[in-house]
Amino acid sequence: MTSTTDNHTAFVRAQGVLPGGVSSPVRAYGSVGGDPRFIASARGAYVTDVAGREYVDLVCSWGPALLGHAHPEVVAAVQDAAARGLSFGAPTLGEVALGEEIRRRVPAVERVRLVSTGTEATMTAIRLARGVTGRDLVVKFAGCYHGHVDALLAEAGSGVATLALPGSAGVTEASAAETLVLPYNDLGAVERAFAERGSEIAAVITEASPANMGVVPPTEGFNEGLRRITARHGALLVLDEVLTGFRVGPGGWWGLENSVLRSQGAEGFTPDLFTFGKVVGGGMPVAALGGPAAIMDRLAPLGPVYQAGTLSGNPVAVAAGLTTLRLADAAVYARVDEVASVLSSAVGEALDAAGVAHRVQRAGSLFSVFFGELAASAGVRDYAQAQAQESFRYRAFFHAMLDAGVNLPPSVFEAWFVSAAHDDGAVEQIVEAFPAAARAAAAA
Ligand code: PMP
Repeated sequence: MTSTTDNHTAFVRAQGVLPGGVSSPVRAYGSVGGDPRFIASARGAYVTDVAGREYVDLVCSWGPALLGHAHPEVVAAVQDAAARGLSFGAPTLGEVALGEEIRRRVPAVERVRLVSTGTEATMTAIRLARGVTGRDLVVKFAGCYHGHVDALLAEAGSGVATLALPGSAGVTEASAAETLVLPYNDLGAVERAFAERGSEIAAVITEASPANMGVVPPTEGFNEGLRRITARHGALLVLDEVLTGFRVGPGGWWGLENSVLRSQGAEGFTPDLFTFGKVVGGGMPVAALGGPAAIMDRLAPLGPVYQAGTLSGNPVAVAAGLTTLRLADAAVYARVDEVASVLSSAVGEALDAAGVAHRVQRAGSLFSVFFGELAASAGVRDYAQAQAQESFRYRAFFHAMLDAGVNLPPSVFEAWFVSAAHDDGAVEQIVEAFPAAARAAAAA
């Protein structure tokens, strides 16, 4: 028999040794309140906490679990790799195969550098852009989150948004001064920034389709416009697909958006650099950056831009990522799209029935709910609008869902993640929980 403890006891003990009781801020129930669930195990669409209670999971490790938790073939690949050695500090053929698989999905990626976290991928992309252009400034958008890189924490989404922080203490003024933060979906603001300081801008970094201020897709022509403006001024465009990459479709958001553009007779757009994470590691620490050889070969050992890692391309982690990508076929993407479609409609209907003004926004299989009249009437196109929503309603909604055995992201600023393992039974359990949660949100 396994011993169980309750989540409160676990949290009290955790707070005695881990700041805030967690290893990453969004895991704390900072904005929803209560004790975070300490997870003991997970399988398919379900997670089980230390008290032995099972929940249908809509966090999915914040993205990586596209196939569901502990997919048997992924676990077998990991066990097999582990038995052959945990880390060699030398190249392996698994890294080559993972690089080739990424390139097969996103042909503009001629070369891939494997790293361990999305933060490392964006940090390296920024350094590479500065090294290639000889310029210092970076443009980012308010509400976009690119990891905890000094230069990219200003007005960031995700946990920075959840905790309502403007940025982070400990970031030097010099570093902050090298970042220009612009409103999302506002090409005019980008044009003006380049008109004023274009010759100093090394790169524009953007989430391919933002999902760290809630889901706020790019308006028509926004990503293409960024490509046009950066190209005109000799700056690089970095498309951050850490969250969207290989989750919203086989070629990430770039693949989805370009197939739509091309079906309309447009040329499509291609950034200079891509960053990947989450699904690319299948639940293990693998992330990547990629782009054309002419840029990527400026990285050491071929070029002068230094980047390295003892555990980069770790063989056990790469086995998880490679097996996940190989299993992520058309049927997997069709299933996550279908689950997202059913859940996003059902939550909307339940909130309507309870009289809660809201807007459900969706980008591929990613979606989230914004609360309040403002969001309901005009939709949410940028961070200011996302922040203006009635976030307090989410707290009640979240806890009602949790009570009904559904594990939602503990912040209104995060996307809801589904997996191909969410079968009809799991979907039904979620849908059945919506009406009571909607009434709780109405009463909040
Ligand atoms: N970029 C985006 C778009 C992300 O969503 C995240 C993580 N949520 C990161 C970068 C950072 O990745 P990591 O947490 O692996 O450092």
